[in-house]
Amino acid sequence: MPDSPTDTATDTATDSPTDTDTVTATALEAEYAHEHDVVNPATEEVIATVPATTPAEVDAAVRRAAAAQERWAALAPGDRARLLRRFADAVDDHLEELAGLEVREAGHPVNNARWEAGNVRDLLEYAAGGVERLTGRQIPVPGGVDVTFAEPLGTVAVIAPWNFPMPIAAWGTAPALAAGNAVLLKPAETTPLTALRLAELALAAGLPEHLFQVLPGAGPVTGTALVEHPGVAKVVFTGSTAVGKEIMARCAARVKRVTLELGGKSPNIVFADADVERAAAAAPASFLDNTGQDCCARSRVLVQRPVLDRFLELLEPAVKAFTVGDPADPATMMGPLISAAHRERVRSHVPEDAPAAIRGEVPPGPGYWYPATVLTPERADDPVAVEEVFGPVAVVLPFDDEADAVRLANATDYGLSGSVWTRDVGRALRVARAVAAGNLSVNSHGSVRYWTPFGGYKQSGLGRELGPDALAAFTETKNVFIGTEEQQ
Ligand code: NAD
Repeated sequence: MPDSPTDTATDTATDSPTDTDTVTATALEAEYAHEHDVVNPATEEVIATVPATTPAEVDAAVRRAAAAQERWAALAPGDRARLLRRFADAVDDHLEELAGLEVREAGHPVNNARWEAGNVRDLLEYAAGGVERLTGRQIPVPGGVDVTFAEPLGTVAVIAPWNFPMPIAAWGTAPALAAGNAVLLKPAETTPLTALRLAELALAAGLPEHLFQVLPGAGPVTGTALVEHPGVAKVVFTGSTAVGKEIMARCAARVKRVTLELGGKSPNIVFADADVERAAAAAPASFLDNTGQDCCARSRVLVQRPVLDRFLELLEPAVKAFTVGDPADPATMMGPLISAAHRERVRSHVPEDAPAAIRGEVPPGPGYWYPATVLTPERADDPVAVEEVFGPVAVVLPFDDEADAVRLANATDYGLSGSVWTRDVGRALRVARAVAAGNLSVNSHGSVRYWTPFGGYKQSGLGRELGPDALAAFTETKNVFIGTEEQQ
């Protein structure tokens, strides 16, 4: 939970906001709720109410984080690594509890939620392994010795979305902590519960108080206060491209470091020489997993003309076999959308009465359900074929040859991921290299592994997360020259 605002009184103020900032912040605060109901999207029941963090509380949190970060960065690397491993163990001990929270606040099928909690544990362990390998360099120079240091940035703000609340929060948090920083995590309004629990587990595992704080609240109020705070050295944002652009502009005004993981509209390219049965069997999970609320969803299926009819014939039963229902049931593969408002957004892209090549079923009764939907628009530039829907909706489009496939694949403003299905290894690599996206897979839909780099081209983002360089993204390089000549 956010720390009490009364603590501010004892803090020594540094950068106080200007009068104009205060007026603007107050007006915004009045407009946004002081607390957020957390709703189970499968039942529409309120399961918790969480207070929103005010800009004054953000300010207090930033100052406490700065003090904690100094102590944390001064620890021996081995000690920091040990504490992060303890945090990972605490997550492991509470895997079922965390997965249960994710099921209830995000509507994720329980098996997916278990994977997500396990991913947080794995990320923490991986980051802990990097602490002692984070080193500088010695560079040969005349007249002395030159060394570089990888220094922590200070305090990092992680602003997370609701679609994978736990893993995405950990993508920024784990390496930032490992590199010696403090972290202030702002979860999405709809999904704060797992984040709050993770902060409790961190504290119980022995991480210093205030090193990792969770600040729930509205993006335009709590999020903006974090982005604008001079005591925050870097912002790691995952969310929509529109908000990412706004955050980047705010960071630019302060030359603040920023990593952006934004939207996507990824292609799934199926060549006629592919194992079409396998490609069709794998396709539903690539756009229905997480009810399509997945930045890497392969929601633009491009199929070479000679196998188009066969592919659609095979796709229909595979989509219909994708079990929709109670997220707590281990047999469920697809849950509801996150909220009524988000369902309206999905509907605005695809009215439910639009002619669909394939349409699935949804359970009766309450819950923000939306059926699996496959469309075959006439035009490749139809808005539904190029805009991110972020729901269980895919389009299938034909292509003629390799050049046509690459042209269609690149015909969006996004560039996050994509798949290529072919038996020709040369073609697989040619096409993977020609698609302007950060994460390509061949004969597979996998995009995210914590030990490989992840991020977007074009308007899908800026910078990379995960992988062997994850910690370095949370450091500044300092160069020190030591003169050794008697006369310099
Ligand atoms: P969103 O942009 O509405 O919100 C994301 C987070 O930003 C939330 O915590 C929100 O409160 C906060 N926020 C909103 N306005 C803000 C502001 N003005 N200043 C600071 N913070 C603000 O996105 P969403 O609807 O939660 O998530 C869906 C989007 O996220 C999709 O577009 C999806 O593609 C993208 N996404 C990208 C990745 C990736 O790795 N590239 C991963 C997951 C989701």
